[in-house]
Amino acid sequence: MTGCSVLIISLSVAVFINEVTPRSCRKYTQQVLLVSMDGFRYDYPEKANTPNFDKMERNGVRAEYVDSIFTTKTLPSHYSIVTGLYEENHGIIANAMYDPEFKDEFSIGSFPGSKWWDQGEPIWITARKHGLTSGTIHWPGGYIDIQGIRANKIHKYNQSVPFEHRVELAIGMLAKDKFNIVSLYFHEPDNTGHIFGPESAELVKMVEEMDTVLGKLLDKLKEHRLTDSVNLIVASDHGMATTNHDNKLINIYDLVDLTMIKSTLETGAIMQVVPEDGQVDSVIRAINRNPNLKAYKRDDLPELWRVKNNRRVMPVFVIANEGWTITNDTQLTRQNPRPGDHGYDSSLMTMKPIFYAMGPNFRSGVSVTPFKIIDIYPMICELLGIPPSPNNGTLNNTASFLRPCQDSQRMCNWLNFEGSNNSP
Ligand SMILES: [Zn+2]
Repeated sequence: MTGCSVLIISLSVAVFINEVTPRSCRKYTQQVLLVSMDGFRYDYPEKANTPNFDKMERNGVRAEYVDSIFTTKTLPSHYSIVTGLYEENHGIIANAMYDPEFKDEFSIGSFPGSKWWDQGEPIWITARKHGLTSGTIHWPGGYIDIQGIRANKIHKYNQSVPFEHRVELAIGMLAKDKFNIVSLYFHEPDNTGHIFGPESAELVKMVEEMDTVLGKLLDKLKEHRLTDSVNLIVASDHGMATTNHDNKLINIYDLVDLTMIKSTLETGAIMQVVPEDGQVDSVIRAINRNPNLKAYKRDDLPELWRVKNNRRVMPVFVIANEGWTITNDTQLTRQNPRPGDHGYDSSLMTMKPIFYAMGPNFRSGVSVTPFKIIDIYPMICELLGIPPSPNNGTLNNTASFLRPCQDSQRMCNWLNFEGSNNSP
């Protein structure tokens, strides 16, 4: 009997065991690299020369687009990808927040502590709870402890770290550490989309640079013989809309008297407002006189956005029409013009991100219909063979992306792989 046959018999025992348990846990290689390229709009690859994305499309799965969720902001959306939760359930509902229980403010640049993030459970924590291993590289919230657990290895966000080095870090975590799930974040093409706009030549150039980064990642996976074990997912958090601060900028204090407002949070596509006592209705009426803004009382926010049921949503929530910007300081906003922005209604096509996936457990050359970014978490749990923690995603929406592992050679590869992949 060959070593491989022994392993196949072992596998059939495992399959039998799985038949009496609710989940199949032995089908996949249990190794996933989740990559996010921030602000990568679904149609960017059609604007640029992207041979490496094309390669992923040919050899894996590509979605026409992904349905982002509201608010279409970086921290909230990235946390939804890794928790499978709507923003009202994981609590990161904007890039800037106030928590009335903590009496404390959250801001994107300050590495907020665990108390802000622990309403959700990210994939790198779920993995560890089930005896697997995980690493995070620059991922929003990737540095935190949840329930006293953190990823095995963490690289906190640092914009100055070159993209090639981030690729090396990911390959090290997969090849040397043999982590089961690694999440890797790039802040482009979001940054260029903001500075030059989504229709600019600079944006096209940056999309091509990100394609080159993807090419280096694919080369390294091959060089380190990881292509039979690693399922690669390249996703994004949201898209990007064209904005114009010369004639599509609205100062809230041109609409509402200063004395009616206690404080505001964030500027751009959305703004949260805390009116003075008894002024909520008057503030909303005043803002809604401008046809390019829509102000909601917290309880009146549309149900389908799934954002309102969280204590961090302020009494008045203002959202601008696509392309418009709301500010509390016109001069300051014009000093840092942003011809591109996001945060708008998630149903707008300009807010839709990409999804590509390729690897031993993904089908090949498949174009799939849109699904929600919250469906990515249960799919990764399935690939890792672990039960997902409570989430809002649906595995059925992505199950057709995966192929049943019926190739005996692949099973042997997987079992050999697993032998060196035991969790500590
Ligand atoms: Zn952004």
